[in-house]
Amino acid sequence: EVRVRFAPSPTGPLHIGGVRTALYNYLLAKKLGGKMLLRIEDTDQNRFVPGAEQYIIESLQWLGITIDEGVGVGGPHEPYRQSERSAIYQEHAQILLDAGKAYYAFDTSEELDAMRATFESQGSAFQYNAVTRTRLKNSLTLTEEEVKAKIEAGEPYVIRLKVPAKEEIRFKDLIRDWVHVHSSTIDDKVLMKSDGLPTYHLANVVDDHLMNITHVIRGEEWLPSAPLHVMLYRAFGWENTMPQFAHLPLLLKPEGNGKLSKRDAEIGGFPVFPLEWTNPEGVKSIGFREEGYLKEALINFLAFLGWNPGTEQEIFSLEELTQAFSLERINKSGAKFDINKAKWYNEQYLRQQTDEALASQYLTEFESDKAVKIVHLFKERVTFPQQIVSEANALFVAPTSYDQAVIASKWNDDAKKAITAFKEALPALENFVADEIKHTLSAELEKLGIKMGKVMQALRVAVTGAGAGPDLMLLMEIIGKDAVIQRLDTALT
Ligand code: GLU
Repeated sequence: EVRVRFAPSPTGPLHIGGVRTALYNYLLAKKLGGKMLLRIEDTDQNRFVPGAEQYIIESLQWLGITIDEGVGVGGPHEPYRQSERSAIYQEHAQILLDAGKAYYAFDTSEELDAMRATFESQGSAFQYNAVTRTRLKNSLTLTEEEVKAKIEAGEPYVIRLKVPAKEEIRFKDLIRDWVHVHSSTIDDKVLMKSDGLPTYHLANVVDDHLMNITHVIRGEEWLPSAPLHVMLYRAFGWENTMPQFAHLPLLLKPEGNGKLSKRDAEIGGFPVFPLEWTNPEGVKSIGFREEGYLKEALINFLAFLGWNPGTEQEIFSLEELTQAFSLERINKSGAKFDINKAKWYNEQYLRQQTDEALASQYLTEFESDKAVKIVHLFKERVTFPQQIVSEANALFVAPTSYDQAVIASKWNDDAKKAITAFKEALPALENFVADEIKHTLSAELEKLGIKMGKVMQALRVAVTGAGAGPDLMLLMEIIGKDAVIQRLDTALT
């Protein structure tokens, strides 16, 4: 059975890149009839942000990325929050200690700094590895009694992986193909910190193993950690059931120059979070949902950030994506985050909805008949639903200024004559609907011998102030007879 996991750290709001990771995991699980797990990786106490876990859960719920097992759902491998699994990690660190594959290290941060400085003065980067470890203070250099005494005396220590000196690490990434790394380039990474909590590496590998994860699908920023993880699987003797890795391409800035970051949102003014987020200092960041993105549009947009179906089709529902998705069609190269594409998707999905549905969702302030007509007028002309709302509100406010270019070119004697005649014919019009209004207008124009095309723009400016917009007859119908007459009066004086 295919089992994938989304394993965010609650160090802040879920970034849009994280949402894409969750989505790809979900799609693969659905496509292959497997399970999607949510595991919260909260072992870094210093970076823990209250509310972040709830935010992650709400974001996934909003998008319809359903979780089969894990935090908020439960399941056979509880608990799914790493902070509640300390004993499991301690047990597993002990297994490695007993097997001689990990060791205690007692170096103080001053000692490590001094060592680092020595390395740097020689022009090389510090590594705590097979070569250096004999010069440092750890259970590979101290006697068994010394180690025991230190632990009993309560001296702080970490547990490090004993990285084999000369080993070739090789694994096949499902997206990047073969990855080769030599063990000499890998530090004796810390597995258990001095606070008794595991590092990401240990907790991640132990949990993926215990939770029977078959595919690790995550961002490319984790690719450098993968060889270490492979080594950990080896150290535990879990190589035969090691999950397959798939590292997703980076999300790039809109111009393609470097990685997308939270800062780009501030500079470019586009959202990078699914939902609005207020950080502990009270600073608010805009989310896709509040900006007016429909979840279907966001899902479709994210699916294409690093994947394509190999056909011309661009519009995919979540359901269709689960059919079409495959790891083979994920790109290696980074994906440019083009917010205009997200807007385009939003327009497509907005237009797919019926006038009635949009009216009852967004225009509840208006009488429902009217609301449906308003949606009909503006649905094709906006990107976000709230733009329909502001258009609707603006409809009922008489213009305070007029498009001067149109006034200059179209507000002539003929236009004034025609608009006056039209205005005077309106009170007698009983059924003030688009067709009848148009009738009245053409009848008046015919009497005067003026062509419709000559006066339409001037009439529009008189009614709305703007030189362009949706169907004018329908607009007038919605605005209502008295208000239209009043506006024409104002424009003519
Ligand atoms: N906790 C890691 C993160 O925040 C998980 C990385 C992984 O999927 O292995 O992204």
